[in-house]
Amino acid sequence: MAAARRGRLSARSRSDFLRVAVPVKGRLREPAFKLLEDAGLGPEQPGERALAFPCRNAPVEVLLVRAADIPEYVQDGVVDCGITGLDLVRERGARVGELVRLGFGSCRLDAAVLDDSPVQTFEELAGSTVATVYPHLVRELLPVDVQLVDVTGSVEIAPRLGLADAIVDLVSSGNTLRTNGLRSIGTLLESEAVLIGDEEHGAPFAAMLRAVVEARRHRYLMLNAPESQLQAIEELVQPRVPSIIPLAEPGLVAVHVLVPSADVWRLLPALEAAGASSILIVPVERMAS
Ligand code: AMP
Repeated sequence: MAAARRGRLSARSRSDFLRVAVPVKGRLREPAFKLLEDAGLGPEQPGERALAFPCRNAPVEVLLVRAADIPEYVQDGVVDCGITGLDLVRERGARVGELVRLGFGSCRLDAAVLDDSPVQTFEELAGSTVATVYPHLVRELLPVDVQLVDVTGSVEIAPRLGLADAIVDLVSSGNTLRTNGLRSIGTLLESEAVLIGDEEHGAPFAAMLRAVVEARRHRYLMLNAPESQLQAIEELVQPRVPSIIPLAEPGLVAVHVLVPSADVWRLLPALEAAGASSILIVPVERMAS
């Protein structure tokens, strides 16, 4: 049994705390903290930012470590669960359970070339040089053989320096590519932050995070409408079945229904046109099935 695994088992026998690794810095840190807060699992001492701290409301201990190290720590059993980027899990080839997709840190691993390059497809990269900090994913996902140029950062500058013909790097808005005179030729992997870990011990914690992630994807919609317009309104919010509540005013009902956050701006004018009034849209705190 690996020393790390023994360490975890003895830690577990000392206490029943679930040990969860969270990124200590970088762009996943603050959204990960916010998710824990929203799940009621902020630090026991508010504002606590030590490298390890117990959480409120559940036997969870948070350990702050580098996002890139988290897949290995989870795989080796140093911690029970971890929040990190799917790209990092895949690059490390970690054999870990993916428990929840967390809805932040979304990005794509794209291949890109200089704007004036004739290259349009992955296949045309065959035999060329590619700079990346994701060598394993390039080998696994790019359908042709390339010569890798290992860099540790500032990948986007490599083509202009003449170090490589192309890059494979994470992209979210595409601004960094544009600023560096680069053009994406396609996506190798879609990534976002994920909770990874031990299915068995991590299940209750995963459920707490899932309830927040699901809630964030929805809004609770309340409106009043003439009873005669109910069918039109029900059609707009389907497949969800709304609650219909009678109001003191005859012929008028209140309609309550959960809708996807992404649909709200499309729904609002359509509901108004269908005769809805006093429309309220409120955030949802937790959602469990
Ligand atoms: P950092 O610690 O700031 O380097 O965070 C890196 C992680 O943030 C990556 O492994 C991705 O999972 C995620 N991420 C989301 N968008 C981007 C982006 N545009 N560039 C780099 N990382 C991103």
